[in-house]
Amino acid sequence: MSQEPSSESDAATTAGDAPALPVLRLKHHEERRIAAGHLWIFSNEVDTTATPLSGFAPGALVAVRSYRDRFLGYAYVNPHALIAARILTRDAGLVPGPSLIVHRLRVALALRERLYAEPYYRLVHGESDALPGLVVDRYDDLLVAQIATAGMEAQKEAIVAALDKVVRPRVVVFKNDSGARELENLPKYIEAVRGELPATVTVREDGLAFTAPLADGQKTGWFYDQSANRRQFLPLVRGLGRVLDVFSYAGGWAVPAARGGAAVTCIDSSAAALEAARANAAANGTTVTTLRSDAFDALEAMHAARERFDAVIVDPPAFIKRRKDQGKGEAAYKRLNQLALQLLPRDGLLISCSCSYHLEPAALLDAIQKGARHLGRFVQVLASGGQGPDHPVHPAIPETRYLKAFLCRATHE
Ligand code: SAH
Repeated sequence: MSQEPSSESDAATTAGDAPALPVLRLKHHEERRIAAGHLWIFSNEVDTTATPLSGFAPGALVAVRSYRDRFLGYAYVNPHALIAARILTRDAGLVPGPSLIVHRLRVALALRERLYAEPYYRLVHGESDALPGLVVDRYDDLLVAQIATAGMEAQKEAIVAALDKVVRPRVVVFKNDSGARELENLPKYIEAVRGELPATVTVREDGLAFTAPLADGQKTGWFYDQSANRRQFLPLVRGLGRVLDVFSYAGGWAVPAARGGAAVTCIDSSAAALEAARANAAANGTTVTTLRSDAFDALEAMHAARERFDAVIVDPPAFIKRRKDQGKGEAAYKRLNQLALQLLPRDGLLISCSCSYHLEPAALLDAIQKGARHLGRFVQVLASGGQGPDHPVHPAIPETRYLKAFLCRATHE
């Protein structure tokens, strides 16, 4: 086991040597969620008479205090965002700064080194690693970071210095192009702050090598969150004849399925994704067929052509990004799962995933079941999964648990 991380107080800049931070005061009774472990303070919970939000610059550090003046933690603020502040530490002796980030990174790295034999994983998963608004994915000596908040943007130099110190990477890229940045009034950009900006990232997963586009790719390049599900589900796909991977991206599901002997077809709307899927198949000594199309159109056309696949994998982008998309999004999951089930033979497998936090696991199962009933099919859930342990869940913050995946068998009634 790797070295145990130091305690928070070891890493502390003691409050005694540091200038006192300005206070952000909460309204009466609004400290309860924070006291229960949550890290977010919504703008309507702030006592704006005592501490007007307009008095803080985006990203400013504050000491959060209750209505009765109880110290709740140090946080960063964004006066323009609905989530007005996020707690960085509850230790009054630990004023946030470079040494806190170094400490948090060491704790995060200790977990991943314990879990993984090779340096390919999510190193920092935001709130769940007590670094709210920061994601870092590791591709050996290449790190791809994503900052979602003004508070973390203000810590960018300290983050880079901490990564240098704790991980000593060759390349550090900020892929700061996510939609979440708009909520914080942050510009979008992609930038290498150490080394040159590479066109691709290379991953090793379960003995296979994958290369995925970086600037033109999804997220940080790879979906580490699905690794554990692929490992759990793919053995059941081994030995099957035909497999369809819908929303295939760079072939994370398709390539190991093809290696297992299946004839695999990948569907994706992105030419770059499909090019990567073909190249990844070749690099691992196999082949996949690709079809560039909207997934819904392709599934309908395949149904009309009476095509059949022994297993269909559906791993779509989030259809419900915000609460207001709920109705439309749920309908899309239902339609998609029904279209996928329709392509299965008398006895086939469906791997169905959703990364929408707003879709409960039971709601995804309901989408599958409704589709199955509509088609007169009988579904059995054989296994279920979520994000891997490098994407830990913060028990007080339900938003940190977002991925669900089901392996189902569909037969006839
Ligand atoms: N299954 C992949 C991750 C999928 S990411 C993995 O495990 O790595 C979602 C993919 O869906 C992206 O590659 C994106 O290009 C594609 N996509 C998004 N909307 C689509 C649509 N309407 N039809 C087909 N592909 C789509």
